[in-house]
Formats: sequence, structure tokens, C-alpha cells
Amino acid sequence: MLLLTCPWCGPRAESEFSCGGEADIARPLKSEEMTDREWGDYVFMRENTRGLHREQWHHSQGCRRWFIAERDTVTYKFHSFSKIGETSEEKAA
Ligand SMILES: [Zn+2]
Repeated sequence: MLLLTCPWCGPRAESEFSCGGEADIARPLKSEEMTDREWGDYVFMRENTRGLHREQWHHSQGCRRWFIAERDTVTYKFHSFSKIGETSEEKAA
């Protein structure tokens, strides 16, 4: 069984979570000035990284909060879990 560590609840089974895809994608500030192609790229195009990848995960069967996980897409091993916007200093405390 694969375990993910929710920053609030601790280790839980993967079946409690939903993956929200690639992390750190910012919504464009002036979307009304974008072309259809630029908007399509923002909505649909993702990096599809081979190796360490930052993802959004939702603890949908638990606290229902979103967090960031770093996962190796080759080995499927998770390297870290953090709250959204949390710095490494806050995480260490
Ligand atoms: Zn949780």
C-alpha cells in the first residue's frame, strides 16, 4: 500500500487522496488579453516531467485540504509533503 503524508493528518493510504496535477501553475493576471492558443496552453499544457515533480494533492477522504507533494515520476517515490505556500523554514519547525 502506498502511503502519503498529509501535512495536517499524517501518513494515510493513497486511497484517501486525489491528485490535482502539476503544482505552481499561476493563473494569468490579464486573461482577457490572451489569445485562444495562450489560454489553451495555460489550461491544458503541462510539463510531464521525468524525475522529481511537484504536484497538488487533495486529502479528499480526510481533512479535505490541498497540499504539495514532490514525487519522482520514474520510481513513484514521494520525497516531501508541504502545505501550500509553506517555506522550508516553516516546514522544519
Ligand atoms: Zn489531511
